[in-house]
Amino acid sequence: MHIKSCSFCNEKAVYRRKYSGESLCTECFKNSIVEKTKKTISKYKMLKYGEKIAVGLSGGKDSSALLNVLNQITKSHGSKLYAITVDEGIEGYRDESKFLAEKMCKSMNVPQIVVSYDELFDFTLDEALKPDNRKSSSCSICGPLRRRAIDLAAQKMNADVIATAHNLDDSLQTFFMNLFNNDLPRLSWLNPLSSGFKADIRRIKPFMDIYEEEIAYYTYLMKIDFQIEDCPYQDESIRSEVKEFLNNLERLHPGIKYSTFSSAMKIAQKSSELTKKDRIKCKKCGQLSSQPLCSVCKTINIVNDSMEIYASDQ
Ligand code: SF4
Ligand code: ZN
Ligand code: ZN
Repeated sequence: MHIKSCSFCNEKAVYRRKYSGESLCTECFKNSIVEKTKKTISKYKMLKYGEKIAVGLSGGKDSSALLNVLNQITKSHGSKLYAITVDEGIEGYRDESKFLAEKMCKSMNVPQIVVSYDELFDFTLDEALKPDNRKSSSCSICGPLRRRAIDLAAQKMNADVIATAHNLDDSLQTFFMNLFNNDLPRLSWLNPLSSGFKADIRRIKPFMDIYEEEIAYYTYLMKIDFQIEDCPYQDESIRSEVKEFLNNLERLHPGIKYSTFSSAMKIAQKSSELTKKDRIKCKKCGQLSSQPLCSVCKTINIVNDSMEIYASDQ
């Protein structure tokens, strides 16, 4: 059988990038992920020389790969890397990823800060999800809290930038979910340079132009140790359906996720302009929001109310 050679050198190819027609050997594939990330960072001017970067590190595949890649890129950039790990308080699940995240930071000499829902919000995710009297899904409760936990930790360490590992697939799925939900303000979240809780901290997504499948292959080739087990509360069934739909389309039409993502970005920018003037300060925490109460403060209220009702019923 004829083994294809790499499109860039004479080595044996191990990966075929269908949307571009390239075949890549192990080294060229690894380099391509680092180079793609560099390109995204410079295209959107995500980083400035010497900045303090806080990377959200869960110990899962994407965030571990991001820390690995940024550690290579920022060495010559005068930047200082930090990792923020959020402990949601999920018994029997978070311990492994926390251990792996800590091990990774130690091996790279990256300072790590661990923050928990318990210390920040006065409840663990286990406690918040125990009452089954609420209408919101687990992930729609947990997501805004994690975003705020990372914001608060980054603020405490005086970070200039928060880097999260959202890849092209994640961003596209979220875009469709917000579209189905008629949530115009959230469509603008796809914007590559949104601001964090305090507007002086930028949020960047250096993997936003890379397919999830390629990040997964990179972690495999780099032998990065990450947690494989899924969260026991994962319940975004619509996300899985959108994911399957987009993956099926990509199989039949390689590159369609890229072109859809480009259109989604343009829509996000327009929606950002349209909704900017409607933003007000949350009356509880001061975060910019389209409603008097921001999504995090609303979530905290929902959790506290449901825990109170649950406690009075016992
Ligand atoms: Fe939270 Fe959902 Fe992620 Fe579990 S899967 S950690 S509930 S956002
Ligand atoms: Zn090669
Ligand atoms: Zn608020």
